[in-house]
Amino acid sequence: MAAPLTIALSKGRIFQETLPLLAAAGIVPTDDPETSRKLILDTDQPDVKLVIIRATDVPTYVQYGAADLGVAGKDVLLEHGGEGLYEPLDLRIARCRLMVAGRPDQPLRWHRPRIATKFVNIARRYFADQGRQVEIIKLYGSMELAPLVGLADYIVDVVDTGNTLKANGLAPLEHIADISSRLIVNKAAMKMKHARIKAITARMAVAVGD
Ligand code: AMP
Repeated sequence: MAAPLTIALSKGRIFQETLPLLAAAGIVPTDDPETSRKLILDTDQPDVKLVIIRATDVPTYVQYGAADLGVAGKDVLLEHGGEGLYEPLDLRIARCRLMVAGRPDQPLRWHRPRIATKFVNIARRYFADQGRQVEIIKLYGSMELAPLVGLADYIVDVVDTGNTLKANGLAPLEHIADISSRLIVNKAAMKMKHARIKAITARMAVAVGD
């Protein structure tokens, strides 16, 4: 039997949009993570398992080799730093933009404006590269609330339609990066299981039209 292969995925949009790409690589899960409480899902291939974890944990599992492959948003990868990982394929799913947003009408504090975000590393790097001094405030969700209650002047967040910003009286102000989900591979696994991983990557690449 071939060496077992573990693929790390998060529930929801990434899982749903990755399913057809996995199917193109001949991998079909036999459990549904939306209804199952299992964290390790079987597939129709006895040696291939899926682990279902939080999106921000996917690069960590792959970095340490607890999963050989994973699917993670570029936002999560930029925040993680990408250590120990290869990123061979842009899956072109879950696309959005990483933006600086704020209240268009609000007078800005020019001295060290406060930035609320869960992407502290990305935000720190973005403003430092521009020589702008800011104070970063780490939040875990609902970033849009921060400027409304005076916690922060701006937020750094992912934006898709912009409806969430608009509904809260905020507007996108500066574009940081275009985001989509990427296939990531543990560096050691890429060597040890090269033929297998290369075959999966190639079939997924055809499915995304690469
Ligand atoms: P929007 O369509 O801009 O109103 O987005 C709704 C919310 O979903 C935003 O607050 C984002 O945090 C989140 N979101 C949208 N697209 C993505 C994505 N591709 N990955 C992760 N979060 C997203």
